[in-house]
Amino acid sequence: MTNLRQQISTEEWGARTDLAAFFRLVAGYGWDDLLLAHISARLPDGSGYLVNPYGQIFSEVTASSILKVDFFGHRQMPSDFEISPEANVIHGAILESRPDINCVAHIHTVAGTAVSSQENGLLNISQQSMIVHMSLAYHDYQGVVLDPAEGPDLQKSLGDKQHMIMRNHGLLAVGATVGKAFYALYNLQRSCEMQVASQGNDVHLITITDAIMERTRKMFGGHNVRNPETKDLLWEAKLRELRQTSPDFEN
Ligand SMILES: [Zn+2]
Repeated sequence: MTNLRQQISTEEWGARTDLAAFFRLVAGYGWDDLLLAHISARLPDGSGYLVNPYGQIFSEVTASSILKVDFFGHRQMPSDFEISPEANVIHGAILESRPDINCVAHIHTVAGTAVSSQENGLLNISQQSMIVHMSLAYHDYQGVVLDPAEGPDLQKSLGDKQHMIMRNHGLLAVGATVGKAFYALYNLQRSCEMQVASQGNDVHLITITDAIMERTRKMFGGHNVRNPETKDLLWEAKLRELRQTSPDFEN
């Protein structure tokens, strides 16, 4: 695998390095879950997608070690690893139904799973939660996501949204780019952390009103992500940070 970069397109290598960076960031924040979380990026030629190898933890995934599969989860390149059974159901289904997005991230953090199990779901109590609420879906728990029959239900639950809380399970975020999916996941995870941290006996939480939500929606230009469309300043900054702290992600 050492010469992989010379064997694939510049575009695929770029997708691999972005995705490898996403794994390292999730590991750095402690949002990974042994071998059980997964993130994917659509292949630039549209033939399938890139996803973490089931057997590597996020902190060891590199651009070269990322798995390349078709939309049925079949490997398109030799690897010592397969795709995770859950990733095979979730990512193929969502990437297939959402041509507007190119990256899907799914995690099972403590805060995310805690909020996913709360009947009222994500409360509108922080600026991060306000961004999430502009494009938020829920998906009811049906058991471990191993049955391909759940794919159409996942597609229907997500619809055209960018964030999804999977009940009793965890979080999912999507984006047109890897950087935008990271930003969406960050806001979703942080808003869950803030909610869990603010809850307790006899605590009365102040929720953001619909009027303020509407005002903020206009401030954000009616869209759900504030990132500039032309240049992703946040993602470029995170890549610079990783090149200092974990430069091997680009191997
Ligand atoms: Zn899961």
